[in-house]
Amino acid sequence: MLYLIATPIGNLEDITLRALRLLREVDLIAAEDTRHSKILLQHYDINTPLISLHSFNETQRTPQLLARLKQGENIALITDAGTPLISDPGYGLVKAVRIVGIQVIPLPGACAAITALCASGLPTDRFVFEGFFPAKSSERKKHLASLQHETRTSIFYEAPHRIVECVENIVSVLGADREIVLAKELTKTFETFFCGTAGEALQWLEVDVNHTRGEFVVLISGMVELKKSEISENTLHILKILSEELPHSQAVELTARITGEKKNALKKSCFL
Ligand code: SAM
Repeated sequence: MLYLIATPIGNLEDITLRALRLLREVDLIAAEDTRHSKILLQHYDINTPLISLHSFNETQRTPQLLARLKQGENIALITDAGTPLISDPGYGLVKAVRIVGIQVIPLPGACAAITALCASGLPTDRFVFEGFFPAKSSERKKHLASLQHETRTSIFYEAPHRIVECVENIVSVLGADREIVLAKELTKTFETFFCGTAGEALQWLEVDVNHTRGEFVVLISGMVELKKSEISENTLHILKILSEELPHSQAVELTARITGEKKNALKKSCFL
């Protein structure tokens, strides 16, 4: 069997009893970075043999692991932190293992996206996980523009050296008023949740360089769906046309000027 085992995202205690037992019992642990995983395994006195499986060797490694699974060995897949395959290696292996009909058993546990979402104060009933933002600012802006009318909470991972630029992009594309949450260093000593508008988040990042350090999950609140009666059909129509061509904040500004509708009501609107 192939076991997918979630490991902690910071606090070493965030691992289940079942995960510890299986990491001890399996024949082999495939780890994204064997040196990194040794810290966790040594902490729990686990001495199971390790082999590396990362994004650069997954294609070559998969047939080798498949052969061992076919011989009846049990293998655990772990990554540096959190749930394997979630912005982490393992997809190629799981797909190949499923194709040959060997069982894949997931062991649930830490995942930065879900950990951040549940404590963010943003709606949790519907959400979309977007993984990492594109690295280039122009691509990031394009991606954000495609989410302009998203009504679900959007969840992203972002690297610390890009966090300021990323929030700048959110301000410029979605507007300074959009509610966002920066969930930083989850489960670690300096765990911090910044909750506020994108404009306030940018100020918070700029006021202290320490605020930009660490691992981040970025959450963006969805647009609030307005009932049609709250804003006239005509106003919504104008807002929709302008939003297709302009950043939402500009579309709101112009629609308010054209129709006399209050900006605040328009700001949160999306189209039904
Ligand atoms: N598989 C992992 C999971 O289940 O969350 C994600 C791995 S991905 C390569 C690493 C990214 O997850 C980081 O760059 C950061 O955006 C986010 N992340 C991981 N640990 C985190 C933590 N303790 N606090 C905040 N974000 C974290």
